[in-house]
Amino acid sequence: MVNERNQKLGEARSVIREIFEYGNARKREIGEENVFDFSIGNPGVPAPPEVNAEIVRLTGEMPSLQLHGYTSAAGAPDVREAVAAYIRTAFGVPMSADGVYMTCGAAASLTITLNALCEEGDEFVVVTPCFPEYAVFIESAGGKVVRAAAGREFHLDMQALDRVIGVHTKGVVINSPNNPTGAVYSEEELAALAALLTKKSREKGAPVFLISDEPYRELTYGAKVPYPMAFYPDTVVCYSFSKSLSLAGERIGYIAVSPQCRGAAEVFSAVCGAGRALGFVCAPSLFQRVVAKCLGKSGDVEEYRKNRDLLLSALTGLGFTCIPPEGAFYLFMKSPEPDAAAFCERAKRHELLLVPSDGFGVAGYVRVSYCVERAVIERSLPAFRALAAEYGL
Ligand code: PLP
Repeated sequence: MVNERNQKLGEARSVIREIFEYGNARKREIGEENVFDFSIGNPGVPAPPEVNAEIVRLTGEMPSLQLHGYTSAAGAPDVREAVAAYIRTAFGVPMSADGVYMTCGAAASLTITLNALCEEGDEFVVVTPCFPEYAVFIESAGGKVVRAAAGREFHLDMQALDRVIGVHTKGVVINSPNNPTGAVYSEEELAALAALLTKKSREKGAPVFLISDEPYRELTYGAKVPYPMAFYPDTVVCYSFSKSLSLAGERIGYIAVSPQCRGAAEVFSAVCGAGRALGFVCAPSLFQRVVAKCLGKSGDVEEYRKNRDLLLSALTGLGFTCIPPEGAFYLFMKSPEPDAAAFCERAKRHELLLVPSDGFGVAGYVRVSYCVERAVIERSLPAFRALAAEYGL
């Protein structure tokens, strides 16, 4: 009666959403202040003041019919130009408005890009642990997901990538700063990845695309986030303002196709075609204009840094093992028992809501999302202490 695959997708709520919904129900039962919800990546700092100022200015000054009407399918021309100019200035790459497509956030950026690129028999490589929705997006586009495990401290492992990239690989998806590990890939890593992809493309006789998923680009704690397009020509950047500007519910982002990529015009046409076929045309008009004035800005990253430092020192002090996150707002912590889901169930008894790593494609870890109010972390520490004691840490 209906598309079975999509029905299944609709019925199987993501693990993260499941825990988040459980947390909401539990808050109603025992009071908000008694539940420590570290499940979801909803930004916990307000949008920077420029966002509201721009909304007020636009709604006051721009004719309503123009502000709230359709833009061109790929986005308002002046917005696309502003994005291209920002990319040129900030990252020193020759971006032009012809390669910019405005979207409804990173999910749309990725879905459109994958549908634009994917042909029969194509594979897309992801680096695990990774955002669980990658598999949904790739498979829905008709592609096959191929997993390469991350290496030391969850950075890129070139040998693992070398082993899995072959003639069927259409693209490699990377995400730095990373959800769920907080890793930020260095210039050396991107240069090594570029060399590998160049070699693989030569062997294949066609480009292996680099798809860079970048919702956390601005959220780092000192680490520089190099621009993949500056290292490798066949790059498509999938950007989102959801996290940087704390606009997750407004659904706004963009795709930037490198003008140096092979067949750049065809790739961009395919992006436009996929956007059209999927119904992702004309991203929200007001927010296109708002973000055009807030490029490169972010909410108060210092707040996330304070959360990170507090949680990291408290948890390592209690005997848990964590990798210090270099960016994004997630802490990836080793589960003290091999079964991370069982550990999360025990944490739940202390009203601590953590996400087991299995959904991210690796076993034995939990993700602690620290984009919460500081008070939640402070109040949660006795619960973490009790949990650590249960494991004899
Ligand atoms: N990619 C990663 C790595 C994410 O963490 C998320 C959201 O959490 C997304 C993509 C989707 O972002 P958006 O809300 O902009 O669609």
